[in-house]
Amino acid sequence: MSEHKYEKFTEKEEAVVEGIDISGIWNRMYEPRELTEYDLTYMDKVTETPGAESMGWCYQCAKCVGVCPVDHVGSYGPRKLFRKLQTGTNLFESDDLWLCTTCMNCLRVCPKEVDMMKIMPAVREQVVLEGTLPGELQEMLQNVSEYGNPMGESPRKRVRWTKDLEQPPRDLSKEDGSESVEVLWYVSDYYAYHGRGNDAARALTRVFNRLEVDFGILGTLEKCDGDSQRLVGETGLFEELAQHNDEQFQKYKHGTLVVTDPHAFNAFKNHYPKVTGNEYRVVHYTQYLSNRLKELKPLLVKPYEKKLTFHDPCYLGRHNGEYQAPRDLVVAIPGAEFMEMYRCREQSYCCGGGGGGMWLDGVSADHTRERLSENRVREAVEIGAEVLVVCCPYEVSRFEDAVKSTDNEGKLEVRDIAEILDYCMDGV
Ligand code: SF4
Ligand code: SF4
Repeated sequence: MSEHKYEKFTEKEEAVVEGIDISGIWNRMYEPRELTEYDLTYMDKVTETPGAESMGWCYQCAKCVGVCPVDHVGSYGPRKLFRKLQTGTNLFESDDLWLCTTCMNCLRVCPKEVDMMKIMPAVREQVVLEGTLPGELQEMLQNVSEYGNPMGESPRKRVRWTKDLEQPPRDLSKEDGSESVEVLWYVSDYYAYHGRGNDAARALTRVFNRLEVDFGILGTLEKCDGDSQRLVGETGLFEELAQHNDEQFQKYKHGTLVVTDPHAFNAFKNHYPKVTGNEYRVVHYTQYLSNRLKELKPLLVKPYEKKLTFHDPCYLGRHNGEYQAPRDLVVAIPGAEFMEMYRCREQSYCCGGGGGGMWLDGVSADHTRERLSENRVREAVEIGAEVLVVCCPYEVSRFEDAVKSTDNEGKLEVRDIAEILDYCMDGV
């Protein structure tokens, strides 16, 4: 017998089985290794962090790994994180801490409710407090803190996209709040500042106008919703943003709060009330429009003769259970052929932008074969779609970049639902 504690084995010096000589090393049998002897310092550090306790509940069934979008392009998933912690990885110093997009697909299948949506922000918060977070994230947080948006753009430019509109939205920031509005539209950062987001914002404005919606925007008073900042562990900043936006929501009386960003939807519905004590009548714009489908349909007069597929945003679908509203709109598009991708609805793939992923492409690139958005674009092309339809402001730019980097320009277009509805209403 060997003396080494992990190398106990039995071995017969001489053994012949059915004429085959398996003497010595050929019949050596090791004893099971003792898993409990691992150093659990870092595992304990994680499970003792408030919010991250469930990391310790994993029993290694592996259901999560097959559905983890990051594992599809690399090696990841709660099971693997648990095992790494068990064998001595310090998650607080590892890039693994930043690869999770909080897409929630693992929690959907986990029998032990190991909850990455709580574990990740809790552990990341400790790292943010120590100031040892990735540089690209640090810059984004600094921008949000100083300017109220992740791009670091001037708050004054938040309404620049409205300039050339024939009928721009009512800008509530220029009013004293004495006159209420039916729909308060929270535009969001990427719609307000990104070139392709601007296209969708202008399109949705025209759609609202044609539906004769009484709507207004917060203009320069709007600030980032903070949900992604919460998920990367900047709780203090999230709370500041929640207080600020809530003050505007209270000041400008409205019937419904309509959002374009599923992350804002998630924040206002599930997380702002815990900070502000207020509840919000919030709907995603696809829900708002699908509720008005009867009025909308007759306005869709111009055919859009393309093959369409739809990408479910994680924070509208899995996180908040809305799969149908965007589909109701897509199937109402005249002349279009709708086709589902293999991974859709609750099993949908992730674009890679959630949970801070939007600003972590550098870290991800070191650990993955391709971007999640590239993997998704390949799927859309594979099923024969000509247009990848989206309804999250992060996605148009992410997927358009992925179309280019996967050499699919000319094969696949990326369009916000609002852009297609606007196109079909042309001339109305
Ligand atoms: S599904 Fe849950 S219990 Fe199973 S390996 Fe993954 S985290 Fe662990
Ligand atoms: S939340 Fe999504 S990205 Fe994160 S570990 Fe789970 S399946 Fe993977």
